[in-house]
Amino acid sequence: MSETLNPEVRIGRTTHFINGQWAAEGGETFPVLNPLDDSVVAHVAAGGRAEAEAAVAAAQAAFPAWAALPPGERQRLFLKAADITERRLPEIVKIMAIEGGASTTFAAFQIRLSAAMLRQAASWGYMPYGDMIRSDTPGRTAMVTRKPLGVVAGFTPWNGAFYLAWRTFLLPMAFGNTTVIKPSELAPLSAGLIHAEILEEAGFPAGSFNIVTHAPGAAAEVADVFFEHPAVRCINFTGSDKTARILGARAGQALKRMVMELGGFNPMLVLEDADVDDAVNATCFGAFLHQGQVCMNTRKVYVHRAIHDGFVEKLAAKVRGLKAGDPIDPSVIIGPLINDRAVEQTHERLQDALERGATLVTGGKSHGRIFEPTILTDVPADAICTTGCDETFGPLLVIEAFDDAEAALAQAQNTPYGLSAAIMTRDQARGLNMASRFDTGIIHINAPTMASEAALPVGGVKDSGWGRSGHYAVEDFTEVRLTTMGSGPGRYPF
Ligand code: ADP
Repeated sequence: MSETLNPEVRIGRTTHFINGQWAAEGGETFPVLNPLDDSVVAHVAAGGRAEAEAAVAAAQAAFPAWAALPPGERQRLFLKAADITERRLPEIVKIMAIEGGASTTFAAFQIRLSAAMLRQAASWGYMPYGDMIRSDTPGRTAMVTRKPLGVVAGFTPWNGAFYLAWRTFLLPMAFGNTTVIKPSELAPLSAGLIHAEILEEAGFPAGSFNIVTHAPGAAAEVADVFFEHPAVRCINFTGSDKTARILGARAGQALKRMVMELGGFNPMLVLEDADVDDAVNATCFGAFLHQGQVCMNTRKVYVHRAIHDGFVEKLAAKVRGLKAGDPIDPSVIIGPLINDRAVEQTHERLQDALERGATLVTGGKSHGRIFEPTILTDVPADAICTTGCDETFGPLLVIEAFDDAEAALAQAQNTPYGLSAAIMTRDQARGLNMASRFDTGIIHINAPTMASEAALPVGGVKDSGWGRSGHYAVEDFTEVRLTTMGSGPGRYPF
């Protein structure tokens, strides 16, 4: 490990943010490493149970006032946070490059999307928040209102770190909940600490947002507090389905609501009438953005046999032209994978497919942690990277020719996941008909599986989790409360 804190990049706060205060520097820390070369990005506070307890207590104390804040006040804060987020884009892009290996393209996309989501969220306080229902009892009125849950504890991931962290706490906060965030130990700056700086500058009240960072291996200690503390009413998790199964079991034991945004094995269908150039561009972006380490990356493309060979040829040529290297260079598209395990897993999946007879079209090698964008064809149905396996979090794309679109549609869904899918066709009516039969939370016609916008309800079905972003998150982060009111004496059976 080399001690080369990058002087080009301004690293901000590196301690916990609890009850509106940054914890003192000088406590125990752990090094956050650049995935490119293991140089030290920052020394970040290594928290545990005590910090998590203090953070939950602060969020609990702040909840009544935050929940009661007039919507216009909350709106002002969110709009300010959006402006600060945009203002800080150039420096956040650099942090995301050295901490998570994110290209400028991917980082800037996340930052703009985050600012847009903050502006969307600014209006949610004004959403109608209830119904009046006719009662069968004469003179009685029934009112149904939505109220926030209380403290929502969030787990944020390292991959789409900046945007996914906003999503993890912004949605509950917009509906009146207070939050405690435990960012991924692999990217605590981009997955939470920068956000705390922004919210502090915007003037969010003390305790409404709290963050506790922890060293590798200490996630469970912090998480224990979230499951044990009675004030935490909801666990908001973004990460792998493997971890979600562990945490979900605990949430069941503790009878806490859990919202999950998990992985995907996102297929794309390219029908015979598709615009091939557009399909090539959509596939290249969808499969290789962030080196294939995003839950919505395209993992497999089914292409009609009549256009398959031309599609593969054009895609391979485009993919070979993607610049790989240190993502601190804004022209680099392919940066490093997050760690050695990710490189090994991508090699294992590739090797397995090759041993079973797959053809390597392009890529296949790694240089340090930079893995060449890789395309495979002729991958047999039983190969590990085609069906029924967990995500390969790396730049590995499978392309398969089909003759029958209906059979391809059925095969494309032979996965436990159900996050995103895409269909490329000039026949929108046919695309819509096929889309209606896809069992995924998201399906795009003539766009990559990666497409996302701030107002849209992003989320999955099956093993991809449940819960939605956008204002649909009101379902996840509020309770329905029934109030009835009558006048005059009631009539009772005894
Ligand atoms: P990813 O690899 O996409 O980050 P993970 O599921 O490994 O997905 O991590 C998502 C979040 O869950 C991170 O904040 C991580 O620290 C946390 N996490 C991982 N394992 C555990 C665990 N056993 N207990 C509590 N939290 C965990």
